[in-house]
Amino acid sequence: MSITAQSVWNNCLEFIKDNIQPQAYKTWFEPIKAVKLTDTSLSIQVPSKFFYEWLEEHYVKILKVSLTKELGETAKLVYIIKMENTYGNKQPFTEKIPSANRGALKSQDVDVPLNNKSPELRNPFVIPGIRNVKIESQLNPNYSFENFLEGDSNRLARSAGLAVANKPGGTSFNPLLIFGGVGLGKTHLAHAIGVDIKDKYPEKTVLYISAEKFTQQYIDAVKKNNRNDFIHFYQIIDVLIIDDVQFLSGKTGTQDVFFHIFNHLHQNGKQVILTSDKAPVDMQDIEQRLLSRFKWGLSAELQNPDFETRVSILKNKLYRDGVEMPDDIIDYVAKNIKSNVRELEGAIISLIAQSSFNKKEITIDLARVIVEKFVKNTKREVSIDYIQKVVSDYFQMDIDTLQSKTRKRHIVQARQLAMFFAKKFTKASLASIGSQIGKRDHATVLHACKTVDNLSSTDKQFRKYVEDISKKLSV
Ligand code: ADP
Ligand code: MG
Repeated sequence: MSITAQSVWNNCLEFIKDNIQPQAYKTWFEPIKAVKLTDTSLSIQVPSKFFYEWLEEHYVKILKVSLTKELGETAKLVYIIKMENTYGNKQPFTEKIPSANRGALKSQDVDVPLNNKSPELRNPFVIPGIRNVKIESQLNPNYSFENFLEGDSNRLARSAGLAVANKPGGTSFNPLLIFGGVGLGKTHLAHAIGVDIKDKYPEKTVLYISAEKFTQQYIDAVKKNNRNDFIHFYQIIDVLIIDDVQFLSGKTGTQDVFFHIFNHLHQNGKQVILTSDKAPVDMQDIEQRLLSRFKWGLSAELQNPDFETRVSILKNKLYRDGVEMPDDIIDYVAKNIKSNVRELEGAIISLIAQSSFNKKEITIDLARVIVEKFVKNTKREVSIDYIQKVVSDYFQMDIDTLQSKTRKRHIVQARQLAMFFAKKFTKASLASIGSQIGKRDHATVLHACKTVDNLSSTDKQFRKYVEDISKKLSV
């Protein structure tokens, strides 16, 4: 029987599988490919630097044990990092990095630093003394890691956040982009990273700012002829956290200035943390060069929490508030509110409030009433206005643009989608839909509905628009 890279690796995997959680195995080991075996050295291919760092940090021991079993005491592991080709160029970006020498695997490994940025570089523009200016971090201490409960839905983002907090600017997660739907904890996690950094490195300048406020500041600076001061201010930050970067869509001036600030910080080994309600691939009207920067580090998604996580979030909240609540009620709330942690918290808060104000005992019936009210309250009525709002928000244009007479393709498509959904989700007539969406006639609406039907069966991107918007309209 001949020994191949594959056979050696399969044996390792068998051993590893027996010794770690199934989910972890699936996440961290299934994507690995064994590519080469020479003597006692096995090369495995991993999909990113993050992967490599994660394996080194968490699984190097088990890797060593399993590989030594297979190849003896001189066993050596070589990682080959093969990143996804994300920029549309055909040439995949490949890099070969020997396993860092931690004495874990016997080898003549060289420790290749992953980070080739020198943190020592100084900003030549910084006015002497300005470092002493105290910059308020704008962080909310209540948003801590401790309070950010872990679950499958957020494990990757949370751990990456912790890694960044331990070594700001010193990991390959730079920038760290946290993305996910409304109310899933992006803002909380972004603050937690900042709070933790401030705790561990009090001398570091950390700044949290929403993209909206950043934009406003920039507009003001331009008005007051202070553009350079604005840029210099941001260039002295050690850890810059920008929340909801999707807000920069279509704002080319702000994107431009952010691009320069970003480059400066990144080159100087400073940490950038971003949040967004979309993955980089789904961001519209963000310049390509900025998008490609977003993809330099790690994009980690926050997903909808599963039932167990929802229960632990509720229990944690109750515990912190010093309130006791029967398990069946907690289960009931967790079962019925699924897609948004903010709503989950909202429901439990009103439940507590109801019972304490009205001195009512918390019963399943009370929970049912409140959850129902809560779910109903958050359900928006589907009107043609609302549809136009959702569609124009989705494409990051305003309603006036959507209704305008322009023939620009993406605007026409947005308008047609609005008409299509108005037909689908309301009882309004074609004529009435037309008159409300930019004063068009019924034939235009009919044509729009047909076009959307056609396009969604032929154009994959377009079908995704339809699916995304349907989802938004049916929550
Ligand atoms: P987003 O910025 O994604 O819209 P937020 O960060 O504002 O969401 O989170 C909404 C609420 O849910 C906050 O009160 C936050 O503390 C809470 N929350 C979200 N995720 C978690 C979690 N994993 N553990 C505890 N609380 C959470
Ligand atoms: Mg937020």
